[in-house]
Amino acid sequence: MTELNRLSIAAARDGLAKGDFSARELTQSCADAMAARGDLGAFITPTPERALEAADQADARRKSGDDAPLLGIPLGIKDLFCTEGVQTTAASKILQGFIPTYESSVTTNLLRDGAVFMGKLNLDEFAMGSSNTTSFYGNVVNPWQSTSKPDMELVPGGSSGGSASAVAARLCLGATGTDTGGSIRQPAAFCGITGLKPTYGRCSRWGIVAFASSLDQAGPFSRNVADNALMMQAMAGFDPKDSTSADVPLQDLSAALTRGVGGMKIGIPAEYVLDGMDPEVVTIWQQGQDWLRAAGAELVDISLPHTKYALPAYYIIAPAEASSNLARYDGVRYGKRVEAESLDEMYALTRAEGFGEEVQRRIMIGTYVLSAGYYDAYYLKAQRVRRLIRNDFDTAFENVDAILTPATPSAAFPVGRKVDDPVTNFLNDVFTVPANLAGLPGMAVPAGMNGDGLPLGLQLLARPFDEATLYAAGQVLEDAAGFIANPPRRAGGVS
Ligand code: GLN
Repeated sequence: MTELNRLSIAAARDGLAKGDFSARELTQSCADAMAARGDLGAFITPTPERALEAADQADARRKSGDDAPLLGIPLGIKDLFCTEGVQTTAASKILQGFIPTYESSVTTNLLRDGAVFMGKLNLDEFAMGSSNTTSFYGNVVNPWQSTSKPDMELVPGGSSGGSASAVAARLCLGATGTDTGGSIRQPAAFCGITGLKPTYGRCSRWGIVAFASSLDQAGPFSRNVADNALMMQAMAGFDPKDSTSADVPLQDLSAALTRGVGGMKIGIPAEYVLDGMDPEVVTIWQQGQDWLRAAGAELVDISLPHTKYALPAYYIIAPAEASSNLARYDGVRYGKRVEAESLDEMYALTRAEGFGEEVQRRIMIGTYVLSAGYYDAYYLKAQRVRRLIRNDFDTAFENVDAILTPATPSAAFPVGRKVDDPVTNFLNDVFTVPANLAGLPGMAVPAGMNGDGLPLGLQLLARPFDEATLYAAGQVLEDAAGFIANPPRRAGGVS
């Protein structure tokens, strides 16, 4: 009965339904794994006691005939989702001690479907970053190690680094994340697991700490594509409490898994070939194309001409929205306060002490591009570029059903590298940001390993509200890659 934490969600569901084990036993197995892998820094607030109580309730629900889709399945929750009665920090000092009195809509949906929450997962502060090194609560470590330097700690990616690390290390069977510019797909690729950023509007943003409201989307992390569909089916749904929530029925994602790619047209964008790109990333991309072709897809060369403006536009729009969203952390309404003589001084001191360096940088960029003299030159221009990027995709999707690209320009890099250079950090998102600007769904699927034993992922993009195509093609890639994420055991670790 040991190592139940290593089961997929689908296998755990079957085992629970058959009575092979209880939700309590499954949850205990995850709690044990969490306790053994504190070195990963994946959780800010682990809640194993609450989880065991929830597992008992799930077992009782099952006894009374309840068969909810995720009944008794242990999941981790990115600490950006408000959870009633459980501290929610956004990995920031400024929210330390904030205990929401309400539950986000996405986590409410997961609880409705029976999920058990193991705790709140670490992330980059306010979801700003790509390496999970900006959290006030410490770095997250990737459970994967390179073969050449097994002692070197690697980043899990970000901002949802705790989610990706925890799922890859089998501390929970799945996890929630959010993706504003790549924060689900990039860490999924770095940790060798599957991550979906849904179409903008698919998952409610209500109760999720806002970073950039026109870009933020919640989505699932899982070890395989089928589990991802199970989680997505629970998380998604129209929510009148979020004015940008889309009232568009979700397709049957589990049914899409067996659809295959026969007759599907898949675009390969010329602009995603970058100078100096890691040759192993190019190889895996080519490999993915071969797999899809062998499974019956037609590969089509396409052009997305405004791709090179995506990163600059993102790094204007996202900070602009962040500077406005983060204005609410003023020492009055939430979390921390630094006392001072005057109100203005209290605001200034609270924010200076409460926000980390990266968050302050974003707020300054955001207020600058929104200021009277620069609004037209930067913010308005970036909005226009955003429209052109969406138009590029609309044109491409007249001819293709999906687009295949690398998920990231490199494999996971060492903790500490690149931190002194924010612009190099921003380049991590080069393949993922366009989908956020255009509101499209995107999936990262593990596709293989590089020569140093580290996972590499591919990204699939589809038309708005056509997540089913991503699951169909994602399953084909997973089957072809034969890749089941299996991080090597760290000396003395259990994973
Ligand atoms: N890395 C990007 C940023 O720092 C994206 C983060 C995200 O998707 N939340 O803004």
